[in-house]
Amino acid sequence: MIPSHWYNIVPDLPTPPPPPLHPATRQPVGPEDLAPLFPMELIGQEVSQERFVAIPQEVLDVYRLWRPTPLLRARRLERALGTPARIYYKYEGGSPSGSHKPNTAVPQAYYNAREGVRGLTTETGAGQWGSALAFACAQFGLDCQVWMVRASYEHKPYRRSLMQVYGATVHASPSPVTMSGSKVLAGDPDSPGSLGIAISEAVEVAAAEAGTRYALGSVLNHVLMHQTVIGEEALGQLDEMPDVIIGCTGGGSNFAGLIFPFLREKLAGKIDPTLRAVEPVACPSFTRGRYAYDFGDTAGLTPLLKMHTLGHDFVPDPIHAGGLRYHGMSPLLSHLYELGMFEAVTKSQSESFEAGVRFARTEGIVPAPEPTHALAETIAEALRCKESGEDKVILTALCGHGHFDLGAYDRYLSGRMEDRTLPQERIDEALSELPG
Ligand SMILES: *Cc1c(COP(=O)(O)O)cnc(C)c1O
Repeated sequence: MIPSHWYNIVPDLPTPPPPPLHPATRQPVGPEDLAPLFPMELIGQEVSQERFVAIPQEVLDVYRLWRPTPLLRARRLERALGTPARIYYKYEGGSPSGSHKPNTAVPQAYYNAREGVRGLTTETGAGQWGSALAFACAQFGLDCQVWMVRASYEHKPYRRSLMQVYGATVHASPSPVTMSGSKVLAGDPDSPGSLGIAISEAVEVAAAEAGTRYALGSVLNHVLMHQTVIGEEALGQLDEMPDVIIGCTGGGSNFAGLIFPFLREKLAGKIDPTLRAVEPVACPSFTRGRYAYDFGDTAGLTPLLKMHTLGHDFVPDPIHAGGLRYHGMSPLLSHLYELGMFEAVTKSQSESFEAGVRFARTEGIVPAPEPTHALAETIAEALRCKESGEDKVILTALCGHGHFDLGAYDRYLSGRMEDRTLPQERIDEALSELPG
């Protein structure tokens, strides 16, 4: 069954997450500061203290195109690994754009349209968020402009085509059409771009144009809340409760969407699963970043967010998991991490693709590069169970398919994928630019 409500974890926490601050006054931002960018309903959800928020009928009608999503047991993978562990995965790749992103794109487009907005701007890394928002805008008659990180724009022309099929306008970022983009291009005409730069461009245009607002595909509290449909459905679908829950984290939305309903039950003392985030070696915000106030974008146009960050100037190596190339992390998840509510580990690109290929050859689904990180840790956990003889129940989110990522699989299969390490100096340098 599709859940009737989204779950807001904030009222169940021992302490609330630190608030976003206005960059000039360093005071908590108020609704009036956010009004040029977001509709009032989403601003309200961002600071809501309600545990459950009803999903509007119009949103449920669109969710019904692909929800509820399947929860599957990976018996063939288990057999190939020879593990006594039982592995379950919640598959979000059957949505129209192929990932979990429409779970929040649809309500965001809906609330904007209801408040009379004409168009939305956004950024996209690998193209998953851009195509989800383009699809959602088409459902509610909104214009959609997307700044796509140049590295992905060049490597994934069909993701761009998909956005255009849904009716969106797509710019390669950094682009010459914004001040933030022009500034980066002046310093580095060959910049591969980053999510931080693309966010600056989309925010700049939304702030300047009346009738145009901005949509973010991860990081913010309301986005994480919309994604809880994943975990709520999984709670109802599982016959046995998981011992370990594993998800990949870029800005944290699919991981939060999967774990928050389970964490609610854990905080209530009913279950006790281990929760584990997996991030790429190339962009390790939890494991090597600092918990500090930082900008959400490169140009410094957003409020200051208290989060695990590698510094807003940090440009991650252009790994294929474009959705995981973000310098920061959700402030809400960062707060939970500080409270010790979950663990975090890193996986290299080639170990992740190895897991993706293994999964495809056993379970049949070709995973997007992002969730291959979660699969690499899921397989590692299942192999540890094989060593110890423990029959743990493992749950993971297979948050997207990789049909637009076959170029990346090609590189992996032909031995052209190399793993780069991330020297501490690069992190230190970007962290030295944190706002004081
Ligand atoms: C965007 C994306 C991610 C990363 O974003 P989160 O907010 O951390 O979920 C991961 N996987 C896929 C398939 C994505 O599209």
